[in-house]
Amino acid sequence: MLYILISDIHGNLEALNAVLDDMSNVAPDFTVCLGDIVGYCANPNECAAIVKDKCDVILSGNHDYAALGLLDTAGFNIHAKKAMDWTYSNLSKETTGILKSALLFFENSDFTAVHATPDFPEKWHYLSSLKGARDIFEYFSQKICFVGHTHIPVLISLSSGGEMDIIHSNVNKLDSKSRYIINTGSIGQPRDKDPRASYCIYDSDAGTVEIRRVEYDVMGAQKKMEDLGMPSFLIKRLKEGR
Ligand code: ZN
Repeated sequence: MLYILISDIHGNLEALNAVLDDMSNVAPDFTVCLGDIVGYCANPNECAAIVKDKCDVILSGNHDYAALGLLDTAGFNIHAKKAMDWTYSNLSKETTGILKSALLFFENSDFTAVHATPDFPEKWHYLSSLKGARDIFEYFSQKICFVGHTHIPVLISLSSGGEMDIIHSNVNKLDSKSRYIINTGSIGQPRDKDPRASYCIYDSDAGTVEIRRVEYDVMGAQKKMEDLGMPSFLIKRLKEGR
């Protein structure tokens, strides 16, 4: 099976369109959105409509939850909160319906998929250490758990002998005996100092995972945010990929 996994679009239509363009050469059997369709950028409704059209499964992210009023934004920083206030007031009925029908967790025989972590999907934990990752492997049984949330693409491997490793390369042949937690990175707001949109292609037959990076019209996305009076911190970070 050929899978495409996309995550953390955050209303960035320019980035999502560039990724769609890049994806047009791939004929996936199944496409998953790992959540955070909205929040931060200027086109939450347009992005939600595209995701509904292109994805077989849509998962919820913490920003999607906040946009539905299901998560208190007290834990958001002041910039994220301001963007969320705007998103909340500008969500269309269709987008609300799409976000409401999203799942917290998905699994098939090849992988588990969740926005943050599979132990407590609704707590939106950040997976930030190898030690933390070791515990997470206990919470799924398949070879791979795909995640988003941190906006940093990375593969964490656990060998059959219990050794863990962090892999940052973009094209990877998976070890037949190892298991993996794979962060696909973010389409709409990458934070690994590379401003290009990030998404993932997984070929379960070949055992390969590719993290693809795609240039997009960053200035176009920034201009729309400026026009809406979004915080300059959020506008600048797109260009810096942080
Ligand atoms: Zn996010």
